[in-house]
Amino acid sequence: MSPRKTKRTKKTSPKYIFVVGGVMSGVGKGITTSSIALILQSRGFSVTAVKIDPYVNVDAGTMNPVEHGETFVLDDGLECDQDMGNYERFLNVDLTATNYMTTGAVYQSVINQERNLKFGGKCVSVVPHIPNEVISRIKQAQKNSDADITVIEIGGTAGEYENLLFLEAARMMKLEAPDDVQFVLVSYLPIPSKIGEMKTKPTQHAARLLNSAGIQADWIVGRSSHPLDESRKKKLSVMCSVPEDQIISAPDVESIYHVPHNFEDDGLSTKMLKKFGLRPKKKDLKEWTALTNKVESATKEVRIGIVGKYFSTGDFVLSDAYISVIEAVKHAAYFYKVKPVIDWINSEEFEQDEEHLADLKVYDGIVIPGGFGSRGIEGKIKAIQFAREQKIPYLGLCYGMQMAVVEFARNVVGLSKAHTTEINPNTPDPVIDILPDQKEKLAKKDMGGTMRLGGYDCELQSKTMVRKLYGKANTRERHRHRYEFNNEYRDQLVENGLIISGLNTEQDLVEIIELPDHPFFVGTQFHPELQSRPLDPHPVFKGFIRAASKR
Ligand code: GLN
Repeated sequence: MSPRKTKRTKKTSPKYIFVVGGVMSGVGKGITTSSIALILQSRGFSVTAVKIDPYVNVDAGTMNPVEHGETFVLDDGLECDQDMGNYERFLNVDLTATNYMTTGAVYQSVINQERNLKFGGKCVSVVPHIPNEVISRIKQAQKNSDADITVIEIGGTAGEYENLLFLEAARMMKLEAPDDVQFVLVSYLPIPSKIGEMKTKPTQHAARLLNSAGIQADWIVGRSSHPLDESRKKKLSVMCSVPEDQIISAPDVESIYHVPHNFEDDGLSTKMLKKFGLRPKKKDLKEWTALTNKVESATKEVRIGIVGKYFSTGDFVLSDAYISVIEAVKHAAYFYKVKPVIDWINSEEFEQDEEHLADLKVYDGIVIPGGFGSRGIEGKIKAIQFAREQKIPYLGLCYGMQMAVVEFARNVVGLSKAHTTEINPNTPDPVIDILPDQKEKLAKKDMGGTMRLGGYDCELQSKTMVRKLYGKANTRERHRHRYEFNNEYRDQLVENGLIISGLNTEQDLVEIIELPDHPFFVGTQFHPELQSRPLDPHPVFKGFIRAASKR
């Protein structure tokens, strides 16, 4: 299935829904935003989503995944927040750079306009020029996708200094068109173990903090480990001035894909559309329901080991750094009605003690995702060798493909010192080398948004396994890298059995490799996980999971 194309239904004025957080971050604002967008889309409206990040970073490309989670990449090459991936996955649309902004990006464009005399000699002030720029970007995103409804997620929580100017923009939009703007407060209701009761006070405070920014919530999405009961809803209603039937209970769920149904159990899409004066069309969540049914009915397990750097903060593991990989594995698993069990494996373990490699035998498939730098790299290469020799299905994504090439060069071709020049610039056999145009950028430390980014065409070579998986001769995939398969080694590696199954013919770059006589051994220079959708799993992941579940 190809991505949905949005088309506005009726030429009523465009509608906007702002989603703002309260109490604390990480309670599911992104999934709330995605789910609201999806249920409105399911009523026959064209819907788009915008993410606002309050960081000064111009984009998410320079942020450490441990702190910020995965850097998602759009087809147009923008490096952005992982929530953009959620929006694309839920809505099954391709978004563009206009759907994302940070404080840095907003200030940068206002400053550029000032340098170009766009303000005609006026004093440029934080207010209104910054909120005005925010508003014009939101409206541009609406226009670009011809959306009936635009759902905008404002990062951070109410009461923070950092997102105030974005709230200011939202407030101004409400003033301009009161009937066309609604506010959703996604808040958290704790149940302290020693008290054993769900507390509404932090949410009351959050609603008041929002009030102090001039915004009254229309909706409260109450996140908690348990559903909100009638008395909590009543209390919140009185204290926060939100009608009781506009308080939505959002308890923890097994799978994020259940959230839209939960919202619909509260009749959310109908109520929101009514409030906008839009006539709701018949609901169409058929495909989505089929998906959640599969999620529930899958019992046979497929065990996937993801070998990477251990992205931990203190005592906690942040799997957010690989969120799209996890989701892509799930999509393919649900397609085959198997239950994915995913483990994190620190590649450094294999460097300390090779005996740990035997632990990999319990896995039905091994993934090495994208990465940068030298930590744990030899461990990754050892894991790849193990997967190749033990015939465990292997999927290498970007760095995972590059390391598969290094492993093959070392252990099959006999180039024992082969490496990527990212790690060893003096290797005698640089089987992975820097892209020529990247050399200058690195030398100048021109790092932000300068990798080979976004969608590039890939020609799938006939008679390869990957070509069969795709069932077509050409594809377009998203990238984020500076290093690349060195064409000087192509003949030698191919003579020794490596199959090159995907090529970018414009730049003559190797995009996909595979090995014969193995249940599944594929490496992609691009990131297939970025384009996998729950209703349309990626063919490479499908091939991988099929092979894994046969094991
Ligand atoms: N570090 C490698 C490169 O820059 C791989 C990048 C990645 O895995 N995204 O080419």
